[in-house]
Amino acid sequence: MDLKRSGGTEKPVGRRETRDRRPEGIEGGVEGFNRRASRAVADRELHDSIALFTGKTLGGRGVNLATLPEAPELRERAYHIKQETMANLGGYLEQMAGAIEARGGKVHFARDGASVAEYIGGLAGRRGAKIITKSKSMATEEIELNRRLEEDYPELGLEIVETDLGEWIAQLAGDTPSHIVGPILHMNKARIARILSESAGEKLPPDVEALAGYARRRLREKFLASDIGVSGANFGVAETGTVCLVTNEGNGRLVTSVPPVHVVVIGIEKLVPRFRDLSVFTRLLARSGTGQRLTAYTNFITGPRGAGELDGPEELHVVFLDNGRSKLLGTPFEEALYCIRCGSCLNVCPVYRQTGGHAYGSTYSGPIGAVITPLLKGDEKSRDLPHASSLCGACSETCPVGIPLHELLVKLRNRQVDGGIAGKAEELVFKGFEKTMSSPKLYGLAKKAGRVAQKAVVKDGSVRPLPGPLSGWTDFRDLAPLARKSFAQLWREGIE
Ligand code: SF4
Repeated sequence: MDLKRSGGTEKPVGRRETRDRRPEGIEGGVEGFNRRASRAVADRELHDSIALFTGKTLGGRGVNLATLPEAPELRERAYHIKQETMANLGGYLEQMAGAIEARGGKVHFARDGASVAEYIGGLAGRRGAKIITKSKSMATEEIELNRRLEEDYPELGLEIVETDLGEWIAQLAGDTPSHIVGPILHMNKARIARILSESAGEKLPPDVEALAGYARRRLREKFLASDIGVSGANFGVAETGTVCLVTNEGNGRLVTSVPPVHVVVIGIEKLVPRFRDLSVFTRLLARSGTGQRLTAYTNFITGPRGAGELDGPEELHVVFLDNGRSKLLGTPFEEALYCIRCGSCLNVCPVYRQTGGHAYGSTYSGPIGAVITPLLKGDEKSRDLPHASSLCGACSETCPVGIPLHELLVKLRNRQVDGGIAGKAEELVFKGFEKTMSSPKLYGLAKKAGRVAQKAVVKDGSVRPLPGPLSGWTDFRDLAPLARKSFAQLWREGIE
């Protein structure tokens, strides 16, 4: 891709009210899932928060999917639209870029996060921008855009303000989102009141209306003073150059229409070929993500403010982000690119529901995070994640695009073995397991030997933590002992 470059200009450093203190996102280390998960499993408050959010969302999903009898066909259609898109992604990107430019917008193809930051930093420098307001965007979380702009371009003195309520609270707390759709589902009302009270410099009551009222007042000031609005995008339409954003807060419209400049950062996989394809995805996305029939706002943005139009930005820039996505095209992992970030697989995942999002240590958590993080970041740096699953298949079943997530997790585990990442001991154990399971004689012998050997390690009906390399099986899992008699034995003896 032809990467267009922008330079920055010198600006005095300004005072920052909301300094981004987040730990690193997908670009940083994500090792240590097991350690973080053990802590999270013991956190009752976290479980209550997760149960509240997922219960509400899954309830709404059930009710609203029932109003869409054609949902199974739409799901199939969505899968095929994504398949068609990926088969000719380069062509659709060119088509969309051409349509945007024909309407007076500007396009930038960014290989990685540094390229996005360089482009937006250059734009901010040329415009003399001081305040950037942002609406919710997982792509900019992934590339740590805020940190990059603050640390790599300190001369600009930019104040970057998240304006999605959850994202803003997370930013004030120096925290990271723990769910694709509900960024602060891990926080309860009391904690949010403490964070906002600190920001307000006075004690605010833990009352939703009072807290939302404070946030609205503060964020309105930022919208009106904002020089550049940065948003993500749920979909990009190749044939028209339209960017589609679905939100439940009015902040998306304010970010994209009040500042004189609007920059969209969109992952290249978010494209669909035709405008009419949106009707397939918007019906599935709201039901799957938030359990609604339709989100409160569905925005279609096609070009900057035109002649004679009263609102909209003077400049519209669309930044297409690759960051490792294109290398998945045509591979056995291409389906991971079909994701529309609805968050439904997180809500149903028995692992996510126990650990929450932060245990994953990555921007993307839950089943899709366990798939996409190793693909974007490499197996070495995220070796725990493909194992953070019981492979029950609930994620694949709920996915509105039909991504076979649990199968992709198995493929990633295979890749670890093929790449020598899984470790020699694990490889030997599984080779032995395969041999034993394919020979009835060996299987019978192993059962007998196992029953004798386990006497030393079974206590109170379960296997005690095992030593050495075997500890991986018992430190984080409950291992059931072999039954006193096998089913075959019981059968022979005659089951009542
Ligand atoms: S993988 Fe499927 S269920 Fe999970 S976030 Fe993506 S679209 Fe939603």
